[in-house]
Amino acid sequence: MDVNKLWEGFHSSVKASTNESSYSAFFSEKSLSLHKFDEEMSIVYLATDIDFNVKFLTDNYLPQLEDIFQKLVGKKVKVIIKLKKDYEEKKPVKTSTYVAGKEKLFNPKYNFQNFIVGDCNKYAYAASVAVSEMPGETYNPLFIYGGSGLGKTHLMQAIGVQISRNKPDAKVLYVSSEMFTDEFIKATQEGTLKKFNNKYRKLDVLLIDDIQFLAGKERTQEEFFYTFEYLYNNNKQIVITGDCPPSSLKDLDERLRTRFSWNMIADIQVPDYETRVAILRNLAEKSNLEINDAVYKTICLIAEQVTDNIRELEGAFNRILGFSNLMGEEITPDYAKIILKDIISDNEQAIEPERIKRAVASYYKIKVADIESPKRNAEINLPRQVAMYICRKNTEISFPDIGKIFGGRHHSTVMHACNAIEDKLKYDDALAEDIAAIENEIIIKKK
Ligand code: ADP
Ligand code: MG
Repeated sequence: MDVNKLWEGFHSSVKASTNESSYSAFFSEKSLSLHKFDEEMSIVYLATDIDFNVKFLTDNYLPQLEDIFQKLVGKKVKVIIKLKKDYEEKKPVKTSTYVAGKEKLFNPKYNFQNFIVGDCNKYAYAASVAVSEMPGETYNPLFIYGGSGLGKTHLMQAIGVQISRNKPDAKVLYVSSEMFTDEFIKATQEGTLKKFNNKYRKLDVLLIDDIQFLAGKERTQEEFFYTFEYLYNNNKQIVITGDCPPSSLKDLDERLRTRFSWNMIADIQVPDYETRVAILRNLAEKSNLEINDAVYKTICLIAEQVTDNIRELEGAFNRILGFSNLMGEEITPDYAKIILKDIISDNEQAIEPERIKRAVASYYKIKVADIESPKRNAEINLPRQVAMYICRKNTEISFPDIGKIFGGRHHSTVMHACNAIEDKLKYDDALAEDIAAIENEIIIKKK
């Protein structure tokens, strides 16, 4: 993409949507410049000389700016705004011969481009990108936590891959806390602690995965504490992942838990339906699969069924792909049901609420996540009540279970919602039509 065109396009969009004084203060050529557009990573780096503007634009304009660039570029774009001087390389390039086996330990598949960003992981993603751009200088330490199979290792490795690309001489090491433990024990037994210490203290970036496995291992924790202190005090980047926030890590030295909370803690949640579809779509594209209608429907089916673990989501898709290649069969929802019979329930009821939520969300042009969220504004409240009502009317699901399905609400909330809709239907014909249209949609889709 031509960078000048991009920048021109940006200016005309901003001009059209801001008034003259804020345009001149924040967006004019003298206030803001395009430092770099990293097309591969889809990141736009903007630069300014004014300290205040960095914070103001980042706090108030980031989503709008990302939207504008997304429209111009045609795909999701991340915008980073920094002071001009912060883009300048601060540290001299090191010329050490030490390479921490990074080639072996990084899986090139785990990069930022292959990482699908959704509401569930956007903060962890943004923090990881920031760390990979300025290791040791933005979020240090960075602590990422979340359930199994949600992308922690992927993000952590992406940081490593990216830093190694940007700074080929940087000493970047990825280890799981189990590898760290094994290495430490071996060093103790063989009397090579000095070598062990040297290896870790020479690092520029330490990526340590699954820290929860250090639980109860006191001597290893102590050793890790000293490593952490040393690296941290020398402004070296440390990234840690765990299955829960630092404060909930059991059997871990208080000093470590405190240090893990010193800077950025980012969580990764279970992906919503749209993100699951996007992940599968990306996989299909990577496998050079033509996404025809049947493949699209199969993707939707898998995304409906495998909801809380991306590793399993990918596994289900790869199984279908593998079998279809092997047997020369087309990928269709029916074929997928045969291959995945152990995970796809024939019980239509199990998928009903998800389908209802989606149909309602799309009818009212809101997100499924809004329906499940605690938000209570009118634009969301009515669709949520409608969805609960349709669910109650069209399925056998109990009030308490509907409550659970709709963001963990109390059964009395569900009863209230259903009563409220029933009352309104007595006089509100427009609402009756809306509900009929949504039900129609659900029934057609079911066939
Ligand atoms: P965790 O370390 O949290 O258990 P992983 O990072 O190993 O999870 O992720 C499990 C699988 O799911 C990996 O193959 C990874 O590439 C994939 N994955 C996770 N999150 C995403 C995402 N947002 N976009 C694309 N693939 C993802
Ligand atoms: Mg992992």
